[in-house]
Amino acid sequence: MQWRKQHSFNNIMKYAVISDIHSNFESLSAVVADIRVSGVDKVICLGDVVGYGPNPAECVAAIKELAPALWIAGNHDAAVSDKLSTKDFSEDAAAAIEINKNLTSKEEKDFLASVPYSASDSAVFFVHGSPRNPLSEYLHSFEKLRQNISLFDGKICFVGHTHKPLIYSVDESGLELTQIPEGDSMEFHLISGRKYIINAGSVGQPRDGDKRSCFLYYDSDADIITYRRIPYDIAAVKAKMSALHLPEFLINRLDEGI
Ligand code: ZN
Repeated sequence: MQWRKQHSFNNIMKYAVISDIHSNFESLSAVVADIRVSGVDKVICLGDVVGYGPNPAECVAAIKELAPALWIAGNHDAAVSDKLSTKDFSEDAAAAIEINKNLTSKEEKDFLASVPYSASDSAVFFVHGSPRNPLSEYLHSFEKLRQNISLFDGKICFVGHTHKPLIYSVDESGLELTQIPEGDSMEFHLISGRKYIINAGSVGQPRDGDKRSCFLYYDSDADIITYRRIPYDIAAVKAKMSALHLPEFLINRLDEGI
């Protein structure tokens, strides 16, 4: 009994998993306020801190202040730090990368260039895109989810990149289950024996039709995922984006959450 208590105490771990901040300081600040009062043990950042929005330097600084246990790079981080060409980016995304380059110092670019593309913690794997292609693959089809679920060790792989929250899993017999969070505070109890790919959604540019910031908490002791949706000052971000002449489409999509 004593051992059981000690054992479970040692394994209690609450993670906050954030992804795709995209230079949106207002949304990041609202999420950080939630994380600060949540009592998490570890913050994990799945990348794309920069790109699209008006405040890349401020977002890098705010995440450094959060002192994440793991910090993974995304494709926009790699593009701003000149590790990845924007030839496969949309015209709007590439234009925003150029503006983000002008808004970041050499030190900030060097730092972004030093961030790894994947990391593990216990039985959990973390990447921006996918286990197969950590930086750039979008897991937005069942086919791709199915192909990637066997490409990592451990029971969970957390991803971002599509900006759409999603829990995909398979059991030992290959039976698939897809769960999509909706509403305000959404809790999912993970089932033992299943292997999971879990998308944390996007802090700074949600694309699932809900314009509020999205991220998640993972309680590894109780095996519970809790998605959070946090409102933030979208008008303030849009005004800053207009002043910097960021593309109209990127400004307007924040209101729609698409
Ligand atoms: Zn992104």
